[in-house]
Amino acid sequence: MRLRAAPGRPRVTSENRKGLRSLEPYPETRGPRVSEEREQPVLRAPSHAPLRSSEEPAHHAHAGRRRLLLAVAMGLVAGTVYVGLRSAIHDDTPAPPSGSVSTSADVGAEAAVRRATAGELLLQQMSSAIAGGDRAAFTGIVDPDATTFAPEAQQVFENLQALPLASIVMRYVSDNPHQLPADRRREIGGQEAWLAQVEVSWRLTGFDPQPVRLTVPMTLVTRDGSTYLSSLSDQVRPGQRRPFWLLGKIRAVRGERSLVVSLDPKADLVAYARTVDSAIESVTAVWGPNWRRTVVLYLPRTQSQMEYVLGARQHTYDQIAAVTTAEADERSVGVPVRIVANPARFMSLGTQGRRIVLTHETTHVASRATASAVPLWFAEGFADYVAFKAVHVPTGSAAKELLAAVRDGKGPKMLPEPAAFSASSKQLAIAYEGSWLACQLIATKYGEDKLVRLYRTVHASRSPNGMRDGFRTVLNTTQEQFADDWLRYLRRLADE
Ligand SMILES: [Zn+2]
Repeated sequence: MRLRAAPGRPRVTSENRKGLRSLEPYPETRGPRVSEEREQPVLRAPSHAPLRSSEEPAHHAHAGRRRLLLAVAMGLVAGTVYVGLRSAIHDDTPAPPSGSVSTSADVGAEAAVRRATAGELLLQQMSSAIAGGDRAAFTGIVDPDATTFAPEAQQVFENLQALPLASIVMRYVSDNPHQLPADRRREIGGQEAWLAQVEVSWRLTGFDPQPVRLTVPMTLVTRDGSTYLSSLSDQVRPGQRRPFWLLGKIRAVRGERSLVVSLDPKADLVAYARTVDSAIESVTAVWGPNWRRTVVLYLPRTQSQMEYVLGARQHTYDQIAAVTTAEADERSVGVPVRIVANPARFMSLGTQGRRIVLTHETTHVASRATASAVPLWFAEGFADYVAFKAVHVPTGSAAKELLAAVRDGKGPKMLPEPAAFSASSKQLAIAYEGSWLACQLIATKYGEDKLVRLYRTVHASRSPNGMRDGFRTVLNTTQEQFADDWLRYLRRLADE
């Protein structure tokens, strides 16, 4: 599929820009900001940390009749959350004093071993039924008494058949018999019902060099001597990431190098796959072919589905059109990266706006922006540079707010700080426009190849000084000198 979106002229009016000013303040419940994570790529949560996400609305682009907001969402730092559960199985069961009769601790340990053994067997049966497309075997592991859950389970089976699964593995991580409330246990019935934390890892053929790994709480029940899967929705924590295929009926369409997975029954997935394929071409034209050149786009039907995929609190992404995220509970190198659309905003953009959004996000995918020491202004400016090169927007329109501020003597004095990119920032529009123009200036003055080399150099440095060093080694200038050049460039554009 080689169709490109027809390149028209997005109209950017001053009314469009006002939307940004009403952004909600950065909610307290959200995790660390992208900028902090970027500067500390090995940031870890303390062991008592609640499961939380760390997304930052980190971008807007400007096209069509509204401002687009995009974001790089970082991986989560929640790996230690279940340590406590593990210790419930192992550490709280002291060895009995020699010669004593069995204690309640022994009984607890035996029960834990029994649950884990039954659970592991069930998970093996479930994953091999899914991998083998064996619906009868899958139905056999679903709790026959869980009538509400049965159709949901069948949907999960069908969803996983619709994906190009290379592998799926389920690992019994831990359990806690008290995590399921007593009334819920009574409702399920059987000899024993409990909540197990299961690590599900799966890999998409042609897209994922490494599997996605997410922890999914699964309710298991033993009745009449057999253990079954009884629910997949008990005790999901707020802010816990959920696999896309658990959220409803999905469809998947493959483009040349793209995969679009949708929870929206009406979306034209072929058109989206073509747009992503075009975005991949546009990004490759600037970045070069040295990346995977494949992109997976998730298209939820509702914003709350998007927030489940990202492990974000409700309404976090009210103003955001799309997010690039590493799909994982824990950050590590090589975790599959996804673009996740915020459906209402994304759909309302029009063809051209979606093309800009997806090119911007695909730039983040290619340049591995979810795990990078590149400063935000450079990451966002570079993504906009690539997007606006693919879909031309006149500078006077695309940087309208910034240039107006410069004319009024209220322009920036320095390259945008990370704080300028937070959703509550009053300088958000100006920060993005300025970052874009900084990258434009580098490309104009030094050449696009130097712009790309600078990005690669700063990314590879993995150092907080990488940007300063990069200006010196790649552009033979200093950050201060470049900032002066940029301010002059802004004044010249403002006067045109
Ligand atoms: Zn961005």
